[in-house]
Amino acid sequence: MGNEISELIADVREQVLYMQELGVRTLDAEIALPTAAPTRETLRGVPASPEISNLGSEILNKQPEVTKPVDRPAAGSRLASLPSLSSRPKNAFFDKYNPQESVAKETLDDALVAAPIVDQKPIVGVPSIELFDTVPAMPEPTETIEAIRAEIGSECRRCKLSTLGRTKVVNSVGNFNADLMFVGEAPGADEDAQGEPFVGRAGQLLTDIIKAMGFERSEVFIGNMNRCRPPGNRAPEPDESVVCKPFLFREIAVVRPKVIVVLGATAAQNLLETKVPIGKLRGHFHDYLGTKVMPTFHPAYLLRDPHKKREVWEDMKMVRDYLAASI
Ligand code: SF4
Repeated sequence: MGNEISELIADVREQVLYMQELGVRTLDAEIALPTAAPTRETLRGVPASPEISNLGSEILNKQPEVTKPVDRPAAGSRLASLPSLSSRPKNAFFDKYNPQESVAKETLDDALVAAPIVDQKPIVGVPSIELFDTVPAMPEPTETIEAIRAEIGSECRRCKLSTLGRTKVVNSVGNFNADLMFVGEAPGADEDAQGEPFVGRAGQLLTDIIKAMGFERSEVFIGNMNRCRPPGNRAPEPDESVVCKPFLFREIAVVRPKVIVVLGATAAQNLLETKVPIGKLRGHFHDYLGTKVMPTFHPAYLLRDPHKKREVWEDMKMVRDYLAASI
């Protein structure tokens, strides 16, 4: 009997501790004690009255039950709604166990799938879907070539080339609806004198190339990154290009050619925003806002090294074939 009472007290203590963990601060359950329950005196071995002693003997003589059910709290009490301590998981993990959250987590895979995503930052170096959704496109034309030229003006002084011996601002020429466009780096002496791009010896060679491709010069559009001649026919410097080339980009948006042939390293690297040498850029198409770009050697370079004509012709045949296939 003493052992049973000790176990009962221990069980009650554990139940109370469990309820404290659950936040229970008051308990209004009515626990009916049997009239034959031992008193404090009998538990302490203090002699009791004959009635109580007899009751104690009955209890002591009673055969112990093999499986003694724990008395449940009275129906309707708060304690009755609590889960049984005997079914409560006891390890540290289950101290934070939430039965409602765990219902569907029958396997590790289920748990991993149901686990909250802690960090949703994209993995560094892997482009996200948004990057693909924001690929720059050719802007819609909202102006005319004439308006762009008028804005540039015949006395443009936006960069230092205006103070370095230029004679004329050399604007683009040709078909404003061309499928094919040629872009060089800047005017030379002949172009500066006549006010038209590609009219010197290099310009004549370009005209021959255009005809060999099956076009008339008047059918294509021809321009330069910079519209004023650099001194000594040097390449335009970055601070000069960055000011002038937006006008050419605006013209490209108006003309909307199918292919842009960029002549020489300076023009190709400016349009494609790269430092790759022209020898590696040429020979295959690149992209500029959805438009095909074919870099190739400048005609002036071909005049110095005619052996490069074969490579230029290979490039131009690719352009010609692409245009023929895109009709
Ligand atoms: S190169 Fe272009 S920006 Fe510079 S002065 Fe000539 S037109 Fe103006």
